[in-house]
Amino acid sequence: MWVLKHLLANQLTMEYIRGLIRDVPDFPKKGIIFKDITPVLSDIKALRMSVKEMASPFMNLDIDVVVGIESRGFIFGVPIADILGASFVPVRKPGKLPCKTEKITYDLEYGTDSLEIHQDSIKENQNVLIVDDLLATGGTAEATCELVSKLKGKINGFVVLVELEFLNGRKKLNQYNVHSLVKY
Ligand code: AMP
Repeated sequence: MWVLKHLLANQLTMEYIRGLIRDVPDFPKKGIIFKDITPVLSDIKALRMSVKEMASPFMNLDIDVVVGIESRGFIFGVPIADILGASFVPVRKPGKLPCKTEKITYDLEYGTDSLEIHQDSIKENQNVLIVDDLLATGGTAEATCELVSKLKGKINGFVVLVELEFLNGRKKLNQYNVHSLVKY
């Protein structure tokens, strides 16, 4: 009975959060349906529930470091690090981090993009959880996993608020424990 009640409450939470996420057609370019999560941020109840549910599968995994991907990964990453008692490390677009960095360049549909992390931000074998707002094709997530691996961090999981399942981003991350709250 308790399990059933818990599952129902969880389902209601997800539906509440899903109801807040807005579709914005043709943003930032034609053909893309942008999932706008800002209404979730505007609703403190939804934001608290999102952060709690994103952290929940990783509570007993001794996470040392939460890595947040610029920029919406920062919003969720910091409170998740707080819940897990972990440190927070930002992965940023090139030229933003002031100290020595590792850099990775990865392919986009058209062209390439790059991400950087401070070299001294993760120690060998530290348990790492990577956080972003949304998983689409998985390119950004895969690149971030490579950056963390370059620093010899152990990736214990990857968590997002939203997953666009039809883009199969999970396939690129099949060796990792991937968790998402709202799926399309
Ligand atoms: P990808 O590398 O394709 O998995 O894209 C993931 C990154 O791009 C995330 O940091 C998202 O914030 C952003 N993103 C990609 N597609 C969308 C979308 N349809 N709506 C909102 N954000 C998106």
